[in-house]
Amino acid sequence: VFILAIESSCDDTAAAVLCGDKVLSNVVARQNIHEEYGGVVPELASRAHQQNIVPVIDVALKKANVAKEQLSAIAFTQGPGLMGSLLVGASFAKSLSMALNIPLIAVNHMHAHILAHFIDEEGFDKPTFPFLALTISGGHTQIVKVNDFFNMEIIGETTDDAVGEAFDKTAKILGLPYPGGPLIDQFAKEGNPKKFPFTKPKVEGLDFSFSGLKTQILYFIQKNVLINPHFIEENKHDICASVQNVIIEILMNKLKLAVAETGIKQIAIGGGVSANSGIRTTLKAAEGKYGWKTFIPKFEYTTDNAAMIGIVGYQKYLHDKFTDSTVVSKARIEF
Ligand code: ATP
Ligand code: FE
Repeated sequence: VFILAIESSCDDTAAAVLCGDKVLSNVVARQNIHEEYGGVVPELASRAHQQNIVPVIDVALKKANVAKEQLSAIAFTQGPGLMGSLLVGASFAKSLSMALNIPLIAVNHMHAHILAHFIDEEGFDKPTFPFLALTISGGHTQIVKVNDFFNMEIIGETTDDAVGEAFDKTAKILGLPYPGGPLIDQFAKEGNPKKFPFTKPKVEGLDFSFSGLKTQILYFIQKNVLINPHFIEENKHDICASVQNVIIEILMNKLKLAVAETGIKQIAIGGGVSANSGIRTTLKAAEGKYGWKTFIPKFEYTTDNAAMIGIVGYQKYLHDKFTDSTVVSKARIEF
């Protein structure tokens, strides 16, 4: 079974070809245009998708050495995401499925961030059901109880900002380019995580809140820059390490609570922020510390990619979960 997968929910145009649960190619065209604006500009994103989508799919097919005529189905991201971006991928997927007369499969982007763990990769174990997924990305922060491929429930989520936003907004305060998450990760490696203790928000149960932390960081920086104009340059590494540290503590505390409440000790992480090296190391260490079994995705399947759309597409293909050409993109989508 050859599946072509298309992901265009935000600012990356991505295409992948899978043979069953194996990835033959996984191509991403990043849009650098947003850097100068300090965030994703929706109108520019959809325009860049228009330019990129045909070449990206061509490259994905060529790299996989698969001809269009060999494809069994086309999977695409239905939502959630930016409407103008989603429409480009959906329209292309519909047209190609009609032209080739093969089935169309609609995929929920957040399910895909979780189910990326079912891609067959050497050296990576697959979780068994049920397991807990911590999805941490640019727009979401969720703890999900995954009962099966198509049966999952959100048991905790953010009440305001996503954890990726906490990283990106901190980076912006520090004057770093967008998206700043990876840079904070890089600087944190040489910093002291205990240097600046930030307080954790008090949120009941399994939910999260990150907007208060953002304000706390902003005031902390403003106050110190007034005293010493070179505060940021002189303390860049320690600030990044301290911010990353408090974020990791917040995530770990909620995970511990989720394990206590559900009795499930298999934990998988997914989404762009799961690329963070501090989070990856801390979670790995939790195996010995708490007796958990943890699943950390291959780096290329953390931030947006089409391979993760393809693996959901493959599972839906096996279960005859197809859609027709009247399907519509959804900026928000029921889980
Ligand atoms: P969503 O999946 O919620 O729709 P998205 O698709 O825009 O949002 P992803 O591509 O999944 O988001 O993740 C992007 C986010 O991941 C950005 O906020 C980025 O800063 C963050 N990120 C990427 N790498 C790292 C890292 N190493 N450390 C921290 N954050 C990171
Ligand atoms: Fe994403």
